Amino acid sequence: MSASFEKGYRALMEALDTPAAAFFSSCVNCGLCAEACLFYTETGEAKYTPIHKLEPLRRVWWQEYTVLGRLARMFGLAKPVTDEELEAWSPLVYDACTMCGRCAMVCPVGVDPGYLIRKMREGMAAAGHAPQGIVEAASRSITMGSPAGVKWVTVEAQIRRVEKQFGFTVPVDQAGSDYLALMSSWEILNFPEYLGAVGRILNAAHATWTLASEAYEATNSGIQIGVSDLARELVQRIVTAAEKLKVRCVISPECGHAYTALRWEGPNLIGRPYGFEVRHILEVMDALKRTGRIRLTGTLPQPLSYHDPCQISRKGGVFEAPRRLLRDLAPEFREMEDSGTMNWCCGGGGGVSANERAEPLRYKVFQKKRRQIEAAGVKTVVTSCANCRVVMEEALEHYGMDIELLGVTEVVAEHLAEEAKK
Ligand code: SF4
Ligand code: SF4
Repeated sequence: MSASFEKGYRALMEALDTPAAAFFSSCVNCGLCAEACLFYTETGEAKYTPIHKLEPLRRVWWQEYTVLGRLARMFGLAKPVTDEELEAWSPLVYDACTMCGRCAMVCPVGVDPGYLIRKMREGMAAAGHAPQGIVEAASRSITMGSPAGVKWVTVEAQIRRVEKQFGFTVPVDQAGSDYLALMSSWEILNFPEYLGAVGRILNAAHATWTLASEAYEATNSGIQIGVSDLARELVQRIVTAAEKLKVRCVISPECGHAYTALRWEGPNLIGRPYGFEVRHILEVMDALKRTGRIRLTGTLPQPLSYHDPCQISRKGGVFEAPRRLLRDLAPEFREMEDSGTMNWCCGGGGGVSANERAEPLRYKVFQKKRRQIEAAGVKTVVTSCANCRVVMEEALEHYGMDIELLGVTEVVAEHLAEEAKK
């Protein structure tokens, strides 16, 4: 066995866990997952069939965990998994999967190819086959606190702008607050209106809230690149700050993977339950409205639709909350075809948008979203993930489509009855 063979093979072997082995042994190779994946439907290329993207990992499983596979390896009959093959395979694993989870919804035997992609990324990253752009983003998360290199001083500048614009103080490191608000890099850099909107909504509800100078970034590059140690460290940073400040609830911002990482995977990653709740900002706004702590007024007269972020709707189960918030305001609310838990990804989740190499493929697969928007006949699309929003903005520009994109949080803030009374 050559040194390079050892490295890649061993890394994949170590990434295999019990669920991964169970998934591979259950797969009946029916190919149904292909039609659920936009990388296949928009290209028609068989290599983008979800289960095919996992072929090297499947071979490692077969050679290590089945009698036939072990015998084949022993007698030199099994095809080796080489580092060269893994390097060539990297675009299928990192560029052509957003870990959207749609394929898992159609698999007749319950295989979750997205989970297996994550496991494969774990092995690929350990063996040095992750794309440079994602590796650099992950490294900035550790050294600078944010994958985009956003420092606290940038957040402070945004705080000052919000305070000047809206006339309230943005609390920082306020112990005992009801809520700790986090932001994604995109919200700090591209959508400064998010922080102002969160503050307006929580102030209107007379809730106490704070930012934490030691944990302001919610994005988890560890989940995207497939490095559990990094994912754990990033979750722990937020947990430490939240528990130090003794907040009741941490608000995950308009970012899909941040929500999955913090709410659903975080306790397992750090090996214990949290001493606080985690809610997506959609859930917080919905609860405040339903309990009468905020009221909405006015209407959005234009026809509009909602793009379900995969991690929030399909994987996170939060698909009714945005609709309850939007339907009251938009008499012309129109669902996209295949909306809710079966919605199609924007094409840039799971670290794909941070991977420059993937850009042409990302634009190609956006054709699915383009057709969904055109079929809904709307000129305004609202969503609740800043990454989806950036990916869609770039793709709409690429295709010359004149579509307005909004975040649910800013829409809610703009229609607060409490502010309208003033
Ligand atoms: S749908 Fe499920 S069983 Fe069929 S090929 Fe895909 S992963 Fe395997
Ligand atoms: S998780 Fe989504 S992008 Fe990845 S293989 Fe499945 S359907 Fe395709």
